[in-house]
Amino acid sequence: MLDFSLSDEQTQLQELARDFARNEIIPSAAHHDKTGEYPHAIAEKAWKLGLINTHIDQAYGGLGLGVLDACIIAEEIAYGCSGIATALEGNSLASAPVIVAGSEEQKKEFLGQLTEKPCFAAYCVTEPGAGSDVTGIQTIAKKSGSDYLITGSKMWITNAGVADWYFVLAYTDPSLKHKGMTGFLVPSKTPGITVGKKEWNMGQRASDTRGITFENVRIPEKYRLGKDGDGFKIAMKAFDHTRPVIGAGAVGVARRAMEEATKYAMERKTFGQSLASHQAISFMIADMLKDIEAARLLVYRSGWLIDRGERNTRAAAIAKVFASDMVMRVTTDAVQILGGYGYSQEYPVEKLMRDAKLYQIYEGTSQIQRLIISKEIFDRA
Ligand SMILES: Cc1cc2nc3c(=O)[nH]c(=O)nc-3n(C[C@H](O)[C@H](O)[C@H](O)COP(=O)(O)OP(=O)(O)OC[C@H]3O[C@@H](n4cnc5c(N)ncnc54)[C@H](O)[C@@H]3O)c2cc1C
Repeated sequence: MLDFSLSDEQTQLQELARDFARNEIIPSAAHHDKTGEYPHAIAEKAWKLGLINTHIDQAYGGLGLGVLDACIIAEEIAYGCSGIATALEGNSLASAPVIVAGSEEQKKEFLGQLTEKPCFAAYCVTEPGAGSDVTGIQTIAKKSGSDYLITGSKMWITNAGVADWYFVLAYTDPSLKHKGMTGFLVPSKTPGITVGKKEWNMGQRASDTRGITFENVRIPEKYRLGKDGDGFKIAMKAFDHTRPVIGAGAVGVARRAMEEATKYAMERKTFGQSLASHQAISFMIADMLKDIEAARLLVYRSGWLIDRGERNTRAAAIAKVFASDMVMRVTTDAVQILGGYGYSQEYPVEKLMRDAKLYQIYEGTSQIQRLIISKEIFDRA
């Protein structure tokens, strides 16, 4: 039977996240956008309330909630500020490889750290010369006795400046292409690691994005995830858990943009009537709602599938690309509805439009999601 209702627990979670966004995030969102200051205090409160690391199993101190639950929270947090949402959700991406492939000891040590105290982890795959084409990475992990020596540079790493540990993808055998990649868990204080300056990005400025350089960073075999050669599969599988949540964030930003545009359209008058009574404007807002609702359904379904233990790669790619392209369209239209005021920092919609762009880029660009969907169509036909 199909049931679109949330459970009582999910409704409570949604209310908790909505109140948190209203009371803690919205009042400081503009400040973090202007200064790029990391939202430490907000992260600490979110951690105490149980709004981050929800996906970690109870055995390691988490709440053991599902991906759909994380989507419900993410929509509300991103409604408040998607830069802060990206900062808070960095742990989900970094910890997904551990959840997918970690040993009991690795889960206890690395997931346990995240639930023990408010702290962060980062997912390090992209490099200065390789993003979409992961096989183009140059980072190497060379065997040295029973350890590995990691050397290479990563780029655009969310939470790089605040993380206590990293998931790092490196080649152990470049001749094998993607089958020669291995994933490692790397404590950030290990000698040989240099973290770069914070990037000043177009939007989502509350989040922390930096490059990281690894120079002969010695990592014991016990911090290798799975076996040599498992890394690419692990790194990609992590996205099945996180792309629904990214899509949910896009839905939250779009909902906020629609609400701001609706409020303005009811107040502002042109040619003797409210903007809302010009059909060209009311149809733009009608399209916003239609697309937001469609995106939310795709997001929920992709989360629901993986929570049931079903393969959701195709559904997650569809949800991510639909929601990301949708939020770009909706926020651009919201700026249009506010006219000159939409273009000004006096109103929040210009920030929403700048913030929206990232959804089409990180965790696989919109083109890469289409590539995944095409592969799903043709390779599985
Ligand atoms: C703020 C921010 C945070 C990020 N956080 C992280 C993080 O925490 N960890 C991490 O590992 N990475 C992170 N990234 C990196 C992000 O995942 C990459 O930027 C993204 O995957 C694209 O890679 P690229 O920038 O190298 O672009 P490229 O791969 O060089 O692509 C450039 C353009 O070409 C298009 N393109 C590429 N190949 C094809 C193709 N085959 N067909 C059609 N079009 C194609 C792309 O869609 C894109 O539009 C982050 C990026 C940003 C901006």
